[in-house]
Amino acid sequence: MKKKFVAGNWKMNGSLASLDVVKEISVEAQRLRASLDTIMYLPSLYIHHFIEKEDIKIGAQNCHYENNGAFTGEISAEMLKDIGAVSVILGHSERRTGFHETSEMIREKAQNALKHNILPVICVGESEEQYRGKLSIKTVAEQIKSSVPENDGNIAIGYEPIWAIGTGLIPELNEIEEMHYTIRETLSSLLGKEASEKVNILYGGSVKPENAREIAQVNNVDGALVGGASLKAKDFIHIMNAFS
Ligand code: PEP
Repeated sequence: MKKKFVAGNWKMNGSLASLDVVKEISVEAQRLRASLDTIMYLPSLYIHHFIEKEDIKIGAQNCHYENNGAFTGEISAEMLKDIGAVSVILGHSERRTGFHETSEMIREKAQNALKHNILPVICVGESEEQYRGKLSIKTVAEQIKSSVPENDGNIAIGYEPIWAIGTGLIPELNEIEEMHYTIRETLSSLLGKEASEKVNILYGGSVKPENAREIAQVNNVDGALVGGASLKAKDFIHIMNAFS
């Protein structure tokens, strides 16, 4: 059975003074490592504070699809590898909407990350309007088809309904189950059954200590992508335990 995977996305939060939170989380990540993979996705500036010093894997929140060149302000997967990061979040809805990233760009970024042995966590999710219009399944299946590059199952998917991010709202558990099943089936048709079964499909959007245990029980939920609650060691550790 594959290990569950809990990802903490700090977004553009944190400071040198707050990095002790990651140290606290890393002690628990070590304790649970037999049953759980934990990766913290920090602002890129803080990544090097943890590489080789702490027992926790660190990832970034974005990267470019080229290795280097005239791309002011960007960071490549090759650079992430160089510094010791192991993973990158790609296509978060805040990047798809705020920075106009398309599924095609995300696929190229994921392809390049894979080339450098960096695990891409490819995010998908419907808007509130699409949810209300009963277009969630169609929207997400299309995003998967256009964002996922050819691979052997060495990616993760973050299913994050946009309307659930940072709002305290989550879908019904049967809606999460139906969506994760659809994602698995779509991956199977793209990559083959064996590869699709290797992929951790994470649920993200208002995962909290209060709801983590019930979400963790849902079929095809292989972990969680956690924003706000990953900034507090106590809350995140509670979520890690719910999934371990
Ligand atoms: C996120 O943005 O990836 C996220 C899941 O945020 P939150 O947990 O705060 O809803």
